[in-house]
Amino acid sequence: MKCIVCTHADVTAQTCDRCVGWVRRTLIRVEQLYPLLPYELAGRAGASVPMDPSGIRGDTEPMPGGDVLVMLGPGSASWHDTPDVDSVLGLLERWDTGWRITFGEPAATDLATVTGCSLYLLRRLGKAAQEPACCFDEFADDIRLMHDRLELALRVSPQRSPVPCITCNHRALERPAPRDDGRTFEWQCGRCHRNYTDADYWMAMRQNGQAV
Ligand SMILES: [Zn+2]
Ligand SMILES: [Zn+2]
Repeated sequence: MKCIVCTHADVTAQTCDRCVGWVRRTLIRVEQLYPLLPYELAGRAGASVPMDPSGIRGDTEPMPGGDVLVMLGPGSASWHDTPDVDSVLGLLERWDTGWRITFGEPAATDLATVTGCSLYLLRRLGKAAQEPACCFDEFADDIRLMHDRLELALRVSPQRSPVPCITCNHRALERPAPRDDGRTFEWQCGRCHRNYTDADYWMAMRQNGQAV
């Protein structure tokens, strides 16, 4: 039988290891990108050039500010009338609830959060991938789509991050070119050239998260 996600790998269960891997990584990235959405809104509010109502700013892809608000919002825990642009939390919460029902687990008692739902989904991902009632192919589609929307909203590419620099507050860290001495840094400030390891980067994200 063929993998239900990529439809070409041969599998004995229903999802191939590669697909389980990319869905897991994509979900982790959704969880990591989500806390950056408020910076995007704050950056727009403070922009010296007023935003076009369509959300188009210069060289960037269009993503109306209203869509960013929807993605940040609580969304709906119900599958009915799922909108074009969905809330990150709403989407994860629906899958969280659905898998809990499938696995016969009690509903979550704490208030749903993106981190909480992601943790649950990541914990069950390997099992859900091989469980027909978990609709893992649809889950994979949903997570990939949300990931792409987040990248569009944040205008991040693998080369650029909207997290402000800890040193100079410049709002664009970049992927530095590989260095001759073999030391690698994950990010570098485009203005003051401060280097960031992965740990520094997440510290910068947290620090600014508290300030917003
Ligand atoms: Zn596959
Ligand atoms: Zn800097």
